[in-house]
Amino acid sequence: MSRTAEIASEHQFSADECDSLRRALLSWYAHHKRELPWRDIGDPYAVWVSEIMLQQTQVATVIDYYHRWLERFPTVEDLARAEREDVMELWAGLGYYRRARFLHESAAVVVDEMGGEVPRTVKQLKSLKGIGPYTAGAIASIAFDEPVPVVDGNVERVLSRLRAISGDPKATANQKLYWALAGDLVDPDAPGDFNQAMMELGATICTPQSPTCMLCPVREHCIAFAEGEPTEYPATAKRTRQRPMTVGTSVVVFGTGRAERFLVVKRPPDGLLGGLWEFPTVVDEDGKASSVDAYLEQCLATAGLETSEPNDLGELVHHFSHIRMTIRAEARRLDTEEPPEGAAEFDQPVDWVSRDELERLPMSAAMRKVLALYEQA
Ligand code: SF4
Repeated sequence: MSRTAEIASEHQFSADECDSLRRALLSWYAHHKRELPWRDIGDPYAVWVSEIMLQQTQVATVIDYYHRWLERFPTVEDLARAEREDVMELWAGLGYYRRARFLHESAAVVVDEMGGEVPRTVKQLKSLKGIGPYTAGAIASIAFDEPVPVVDGNVERVLSRLRAISGDPKATANQKLYWALAGDLVDPDAPGDFNQAMMELGATICTPQSPTCMLCPVREHCIAFAEGEPTEYPATAKRTRQRPMTVGTSVVVFGTGRAERFLVVKRPPDGLLGGLWEFPTVVDEDGKASSVDAYLEQCLATAGLETSEPNDLGELVHHFSHIRMTIRAEARRLDTEEPPEGAAEFDQPVDWVSRDELERLPMSAAMRKVLALYEQA
């Protein structure tokens, strides 16, 4: 199917080129693909889980999470029935926590409204929360052989080089062009393998800084290679400017050794790091530590508790996609050996947990860094 309306003539692949590219790429993929646990499994739910985890996260990091996830929630029913807390606990450390929330919610929709069957088409898949055009295309083509394209950063780069496409790869016009080209190229008989082959080529051969063109199966079709400057494409996209944010975090403890307990607060369900636990943390509007004091006072005073003077743990920086967060960390010790009765009058759920419980609690990577600072101190 040609999508000529969206493809300027200089970028179009001829029918012969499409055939030749498909053959070369599929043959290369059959011999050189990396063995990854989600490949060739035929389980749409597992493909879905892997694709959601692989958004924004490196393959090497995902592998362990993927195994643990499928051990704990082997089917979409298991995930749909799971407690949110357990889902977040298993996701903790992968970042972009909204992915886990949406996956959990969508599993419930699949079970309650779709008879427990993962949808088979891009259109149906996109009706689920957390599944956009890329993920829908990946699941539909890999798990159900729907002849639809996928375009991720790797595919953008390969196509930019094959057709010498200049300009910002994230610009709307270029995005339309990539999707149209990928739609023309995708192999109608092996769409899942073809899409994975394109992404694999971008991940292992046609890499951003140093493509190994001499090993590339589609070199003869590549304009950027013929021009001699493959890394000129695609143009480097402007980095999203990260908004600076400063927060104050206090590690509040009582007891020592095995009796040591940490105060943790659960974040509201929506927004940044929604539903995760953290040490008491406030956004430090004016750059002074006083706001942490006020917060802790509110948190602890009604339980009749007093803390020692804060012990400065130093500063660390943590990067989210749009936020550069500076965390000013401190530690305080409660003047008691008895388990505090609580921290009443507090807006969010709070708890006192042991070191072991802390390990299992769904917390962000930023809070794990704060814990490391505390332990070093
Ligand atoms: S020839 Fe080089 S630049 Fe072109 S697609 Fe292959 S690896 Fe990428």
